[in-house]
Amino acid sequence: MAFIGTKICPVCGKEFKGLGNICKDGDYCNACEKKVRLVFVEDEEDYLPAAKIRARLNKYADAIAAYDSVEKPETCPICGKKLPKLMNMRLLDAFICMGCAEKARDMLHTGYDAVGCMCLSEIQPLFGQAAVQGGRADASGVFHNADSLRIVYPLIRTLWQEPGEYGYNVEYIDPLDSLSDEELKAAPALAAKRREELEEKYGTHKAIFEVDSISKLYNESKGKRHYRDEYRIGGRVLMGNIVLRDRAAVKRTEGTKDLLIRKLGDCRKYSSDMKELKEGTEGGLFVESALSFVYPGDILYID
Ligand SMILES: [Zn+2]
Ligand SMILES: [Zn+2]
Repeated sequence: MAFIGTKICPVCGKEFKGLGNICKDGDYCNACEKKVRLVFVEDEEDYLPAAKIRARLNKYADAIAAYDSVEKPETCPICGKKLPKLMNMRLLDAFICMGCAEKARDMLHTGYDAVGCMCLSEIQPLFGQAAVQGGRADASGVFHNADSLRIVYPLIRTLWQEPGEYGYNVEYIDPLDSLSDEELKAAPALAAKRREELEEKYGTHKAIFEVDSISKLYNESKGKRHYRDEYRIGGRVLMGNIVLRDRAAVKRTEGTKDLLIRKLGDCRKYSSDMKELKEGTEGGLFVESALSFVYPGDILYID
């Protein structure tokens, strides 16, 4: 039985003295707190019931016990590059480079501190995704470059709600991840056939772009809009790749109009810092000229 001045820790069930730490079920002991700090983001546990805290401590019990014996390796266990002395991140049971830590953070939609509370085995599978790898290997070990298959398997755009002021954020689902091995093996031939069909329809060009929308750009200051002589042509690259300073032509019976592509952006209207728009992707072409002759549904020929 507990005597005066001691309490029972609701997490581990042992008696303890002193102030302890707060959770939803009251104060818990400092010995548990030491472990909690390794697997919970700061203050996250304050409002959790003791049973939940106990469950996570149990889940990570082995990693917590081995925490102090983990040594910094020479190379990042995810990307295999040399692990920088300072720019690295401690996971519960490993060290990874900051480049990989950043990717993991983005893929998990969380913060670095939450990534640091996880094990390598929980994070590593994320890096096997086709979009991260730049493609996928089939069962016979042949690697298929994602860029060359986007013409038949474009990324699927989705929106996820970001709490706070940002509203929605763009994210992509990669259909390559869910292809069967037969589908993956058949994909290169399918892509070649699609290119052939497009060439037959539009002729041979460096790239073909299909127009969805046209927006005139403006600056806003003191509540007033100041229109610029700049337009964003939104749409998708049906075939080929588009780079900065490529020329885009619109063909009409009355003649051909030519545009210089000054900037490139992804599907977000405010993005304009891309160097290249690859085959099968959505994006924006930025031009500086009067644009009354381009319409949604138009085809731009890039040469
Ligand atoms: Zn305890
Ligand atoms: Zn790495």
